[in-house]
Amino acid sequence: MRQRAVIAMATVGAPDLLVADEPTTALDAERRTQVLRVLAEQREAAGAALLLVTHDLDVVREHADRVLVMYAGRTSELGPAKAVWNRPRAPYTAGLLASLPQDGPRRRRLPALPGTPPAPGALPPGCAFAPRCPLAADRCRTEEPEPRDVDGRLVACHRTDEVPADPVALFQEGRPA
Ligand code: SF4
Repeated sequence: MRQRAVIAMATVGAPDLLVADEPTTALDAERRTQVLRVLAEQREAAGAALLLVTHDLDVVREHADRVLVMYAGRTSELGPAKAVWNRPRAPYTAGLLASLPQDGPRRRRLPALPGTPPAPGALPPGCAFAPRCPLAADRCRTEEPEPRDVDGRLVACHRTDEVPADPVALFQEGRPA
């Protein structure tokens, strides 16, 4: 109820942009659905854009038109949410999607990203994801990748062409780090 009240307070001034920072954290599935529905209704009523900041990939899949995936404060990938979801082109995005539970015949042990995120004040040289990336090469450890156009989206990765279509394949056990 408090979250609903805050959403109503945020929209009362008819903003052009609503920013919802982790709006579903610590909510069960039913409350999560309710809060997202209220946000969508208020956004519609205000005629506003909605910027969702979230770690919940299901929220992204169900509610985002465009998605910006960030790692260590930097862009990994930016593009239409459906396209990014169906075919990630940055290894970090692939790792996030690979860690989601699968239904049906694809069900298997979930891969986990190796290592831990870097401290904000101590980013490694080059690509910040390199210490955890299965595709990391020498260039990745010295040269920070700039976002560039890849099939209508922005991707910051030197080796995006080598990201497999199946994200799980990139983070399977036994693959060299
Ligand atoms: S630039 Fe290199 S280390 Fe960074 S995500 Fe791409 S392949 Fe991995």
